[in-house]
Parts: sequence; C-alpha cells; structure tokens
Amino acid sequence: MAFALTIDGKPAPASETFAVIDPATGREFAQCPLATVAQLDQAVAAARAAFPGWAALPIEQRAAALNAIADALAAECDDLAALLSQEQGKPVRSAAGEIQGSIHWIRTTAGFRPEIERIDQADGSRAEIHRKPLGVVGSITPWNFPVMIAIWHVMPALLAGNTVVLKPSPSTPLATLRMVEIANRHLPAGVWNVVTGDVEIGSGIAKHPGIDKVVFTGSTPTGRAIMRDGAANLKRLTLELGGNDAAIVLPDADVEAIAPQIFQYAFGNSGQICAAIKRVYVHDTLHDALAERLAELAAAAKVGPGSDPETHYGPVQNRRQFDYVRTLADDARAQGGRFLAGGEPLAGDGYFFPLSIVVDVTDGHRIVDEEQFGPVLPLIRYSDVEDVLARANASENGLGGSVWSADVSRAAALAQRLECGTAWVNSHSKISPDVPFGGAKQSGIGVEFGMHGLDEYMQLQIVRLPAEAA
Ligand code: NAD
Repeated sequence: MAFALTIDGKPAPASETFAVIDPATGREFAQCPLATVAQLDQAVAAARAAFPGWAALPIEQRAAALNAIADALAAECDDLAALLSQEQGKPVRSAAGEIQGSIHWIRTTAGFRPEIERIDQADGSRAEIHRKPLGVVGSITPWNFPVMIAIWHVMPALLAGNTVVLKPSPSTPLATLRMVEIANRHLPAGVWNVVTGDVEIGSGIAKHPGIDKVVFTGSTPTGRAIMRDGAANLKRLTLELGGNDAAIVLPDADVEAIAPQIFQYAFGNSGQICAAIKRVYVHDTLHDALAERLAELAAAAKVGPGSDPETHYGPVQNRRQFDYVRTLADDARAQGGRFLAGGEPLAGDGYFFPLSIVVDVTDGHRIVDEEQFGPVLPLIRYSDVEDVLARANASENGLGGSVWSADVSRAAALAQRLECGTAWVNSHSKISPDVPFGGAKQSGIGVEFGMHGLDEYMQLQIVRLPAEAA
C-alpha cells in the first residue's frame, strides 16, 4: 500500500521514508513518506494561498464540505479501521468505533454557527462582537487516537474558515494520511495539508511565521516546547496535555455496580486515554472488595493482537511507552506494591502488557504520581475524605477527576472541589462534541468541542457603531 503527503490538494512525493511498526509484532509493516522542511514550507504556503477563498465562503458551504467528508469517511470506514488497527494496535472493532466517532464529531461540528453578539450601550451606541478565522492552523497529533484527535483539531478549524497543516505522530501516521487524501476530494486545494515527521517538523510548525495558531494534543513537555517555539509570532495555542486523573470512591459506593465502570474507564484503549482513570483512591472499608473485583475483571480480559476478533485490549502502542509502563510497574513492586493481576509483560514479540491491578502503593510512588498512560492501575487506600481530596489535587496535572458514591449530590459537591477541567460523578472519560473539554493546571490551555472550542479558532473583532446606527 502506498502512502503520500497531501500538499496543495495533491499527493506530494517524498525522497525519504521511515518505518511504521506493528505494535502486535514489534516489526515494520509499512514505509511512510517523510516530509522535508521545504515541504512543510510548501504546505504552509498552500494553506496561506487557500485561506482567503475558503474564509470568504458562506459557512453553509464549508459545513457542506465537512458533511461530505463525513460521508466519504463512512464509505471507507472498514479499510481505514483495518489500517488504524494495524498501526495503533487497538482491536479492529475499536478502530471502527474511532472512525464512527470521528464521523459523529464532524457532523455535530458542522452544525455549529457562531453568532454576532450585540451589546447596547447606555448612550445609544452599540458594540457588535464578530468572529473571524485566524488564518493557518497547525495541528500536531499523538498516537492514541490518531484519526479522532485529528478530526477534533481540524473540523472546527475548517468550519471557522481557517486552513490547516496537520502533522500526525510518526508512530501512527498512515490512517491520517489516508483520511486527508479522502477529505481532499471534497475541499479546495490547499485547505487541508498533511506532512509527516517528528520533532523537527513539529517544532517547525510551532515556529513557522506562516502559521497563526497551533492546536496540539500530546505530552506536557512537548506542550511546553510548542509554547516556547510559538512565542516567535505570538501564536494562539490550544494545548491538550497529559493527565493523571484520580477517581475517589466514597464509603457508600456500591462496589459491584461501580467496579465494571471503573475498569472500563481505566483500561479503555489499553489505558492510553488522556482522561482515563489513572489512580483510584478507595475508602478503607471498600478497598479489598473493589481491588478483588477489578483484579477478576483484569484477569478475564483478553489482551492480544488487534486483528484477532477475540481481542478486547491491544498492545501498548510503541516500544518507548511499553518500556515506560514496565518501568513504573517494576518500581511499584520495588516499593512494596502487590499485583493482584498482571504486573509483567506478556511473553513473545509485540508490546503486550496485561491489564494490571496494583495495591499497597501510595502517593510518592511513581505509579501514583506519574501518568502511566498504559494498562497498570494503582489502588490507594484512604480513610479521611478531606485528606483524599488534597491528595487527588496534589498534582501538576488537572485534566479530569471523578467521585463515586450512592449519594449523587454529596459526590457532586466533592467533584466541584477537584482541580480539573472535567469532574464526573459516577462516571469518567465521557466526552461529547457539544460539551467543552480541556485541562486545568498543566494539563493544557484552552478547550476543545462545542461553541467554546470553536471560539478557539476565531479572533473576536469588536465593531463599535454610533447611536444613529443602533
Ligand atoms: P508527544 O508529546 O511525545 O508527541 C505528540 C506529537 O508531538 C507527535 O506528533 C510528535 O511528533 C510531536 N512532537 C514531539 N516533539 C515536538 C516538538 N518539540 N515540537 C512540536 N511537536 C513535537 O506525545 P505522545 O507520546 O504522542 O502522546 C502521549 C501523551 O499525550 C500523553 O502524555 C497523554 O496524556 C497525552 N494526550 C493528551 C490528550 C488530551 O486531550 N489532553 C489526548 C491524548 C494524549
């Protein structure tokens, strides 16, 4: 299968390629074209040239193009899902779910319409708030949901009238290249370009004087680098970064009812979700029962290659992350942590780590303090609710958090005291295309989704009119 960059509406040849690894085997399965810095410049130039025409279209026409892209992706869902599964590792049906979720996101986003707001003044004059596109948006995506996150970045950018240069993660570039190729059949040339590469091209985007805004999803250190690089031309930034979400289980929670849900929100996508449950604080009275139930669920889950229809959970996506998860698991054991399920990599090739439950760990241990971004879940005992709230909040991250209880209003009151962008009650990780989502503290800047998310792709322009115009 041949893959190409898309620059100015056309496939762009690449003189160099790099290997894409199948995480289920640890071996190369495809070569991906590698963009040069000159090709990044060409992509930015194409996006700049396409910007005035695209921005001038009535929003209904841009929305129609988005819906046409959704239809085209739906028609190619099976092929895209197979490719996504092979490069990312997730089961084929989860990959299909990612494509279908992306389509749902496109259609919802296409329905948003920014309005002109009007503020009447006491002297009879009027201020109007208009929203204008920013220009060229650079999008840099990670490897956990490559297709979905690209859609989250690019669709509101395009609807608002911006043009885009996208760079996928070098670990998972292929489904993204294919998606952009398909989308370009429904867009004017230059509106959506895609280049590949890693730090050089990523920081090239962040520094580029022809790019007005960067939207980035990935790790917090890379977010900091993008902020530094983007300072050159005061780029607008939306940063969705790491999380270390706490779930607090109150003593009145029903263990049988909540265990499968906590399990699902911790281990979905093999734990590689930014807003997954990453540490569970359980009241002393429930600790052992919940730990035992979660361990049973973990032991019953089938971890395997994404191509096997029996597989529930795929491998860790890449070698570096796999080694990191193993290091955190080893450290937990060295600190006296007890694994009730998993704890050691599975034998054989591929980056397979079993779903793992570890107890007898606490704050100050790496598995609790750091973001594992993989299938190892620590359970931490507590006895005092005020104390556990302070421990949950003692993190530089603040993406999400949750409180689990039979008393929803008590849980909601506590959830509001979590220092995070989204606080869930008796659930976690749930997101919707019309509800804003973003991180507090060092988990990010700005929000995605909904009208608040769309606003991040637009510049407010205030038009002040004299009294006689009002
Ligand atoms: P990463 O930061 O290593 O890489 C993400 C992207 O940035 C890749 O495309 C990479 O090539 C590019 N990049 C690397 N260095 C760069 C630089 N100096 N300048 C510009 N771009 C650069 O992250 P990752 O390992 O792909 O993803 C895992 C991390 O992403 C986890 O920390 C996770 O929590 C976070 N994440 C956050 C969210 C969210 O919405 N908050 C969602 C998914 C993942």
